[in-house]
Amino acid sequence: MREISSLTLVLSDRCNFACPYCPQRHGTNALSIRDVTTFLEIVKPRLARQVSLGFYGGEPLLSWRLIEEILAHADSHFRDRFHFTLTTNGSLLTGPRVAFLKKHRVELVLSYDGLAQRARDAGHLAAVEKALALLQERYPGGYRIHSVFTPGTVPLLASSIAALLEQGHPRLQYALDACVPWKAADLKALEEQLRRLAARCRAHRQKTGRVPLENFKDNGQQGTFACFAGRDRLALLPERTIWGCALFHDLLGHDPAHPDYAKYCLGRLDEFASKPGPALASAARHAGTLHQDFFFSEKGDLCSLCDDLERCAVCPATAALASRTLGMIPSWTCRIRKITRAAATAAP
Ligand code: SF4
Ligand code: SF4
Repeated sequence: MREISSLTLVLSDRCNFACPYCPQRHGTNALSIRDVTTFLEIVKPRLARQVSLGFYGGEPLLSWRLIEEILAHADSHFRDRFHFTLTTNGSLLTGPRVAFLKKHRVELVLSYDGLAQRARDAGHLAAVEKALALLQERYPGGYRIHSVFTPGTVPLLASSIAALLEQGHPRLQYALDACVPWKAADLKALEEQLRRLAARCRAHRQKTGRVPLENFKDNGQQGTFACFAGRDRLALLPERTIWGCALFHDLLGHDPAHPDYAKYCLGRLDEFASKPGPALASAARHAGTLHQDFFFSEKGDLCSLCDDLERCAVCPATAALASRTLGMIPSWTCRIRKITRAAATAAP
């Protein structure tokens, strides 16, 4: 197995929002500091020199005390080893919390769907907009905004991102709901929105020299994409199970009888503690089969025969949320890959 360079801590499955595209099931499970320190001690001998450690939920700020405890533990036992990120809906951010996160150099990913969220969730809007203003004022280099669009909200994509740009937010990214099918009309709307967005970002770069949208930056990816779940990354889930990647938990975590469950779940924390080596080897072996050139469409067309193979990257767990079969890519996912890639090529 490679060294582990990425860890995800899903602090709880509680959330104070109900975003319609969220694939997680919400409940009352929550990690304790003992769970987290046990997990970190088990994986410590396998960690790379620099490790990305992400706090997720549910809404992780509902577990604020635990975040403070984990950061204190990391300070005393893993000094300067971790690069922290925290993905939040922002509604529970306050001035003192932003100051604390900044002091510990925790990078924030603020989930905010811009105009789409305004239309859907007016109740939380004031709190989220207050958080955006706080970040902009007190931690401008420490956050990015992540906006998700669905087939229903995609007509708002370009104007929503443009509005965030106009408000001066420096780092933005968009994602598309992968759990529901995109019809031909939705894909056409997406194509048109991304054409407008590419033009807007081009103008922004000419004026400022910066590419504001992470999706339009060259990620340097070359060659055939592969899933690294369980190979260089691990996730601890709030019901105390270990997974190669939290997305496999979204896909399989609630169905232990599923034949793939045992392939991608490394067991409960206590089981993993007693034999981490074999669990890691088994997970890495199974995830090692998840290469883009092994994937196929619903009609049986092979990605290995596609001209775009080396420019394509589809997360198999996310694709399977819709297709229900690991390795099978829905035809609309394939079309989305082509549309988004064309927009990224046109943008700079
Ligand atoms: S490809 Fe998907 S499942 Fe695999 S590691 Fe990346 S995000 Fe996780
Ligand atoms: S564009 Fe579609 S067929 Fe081609 S590699 Fe990507 S998912 Fe496979």
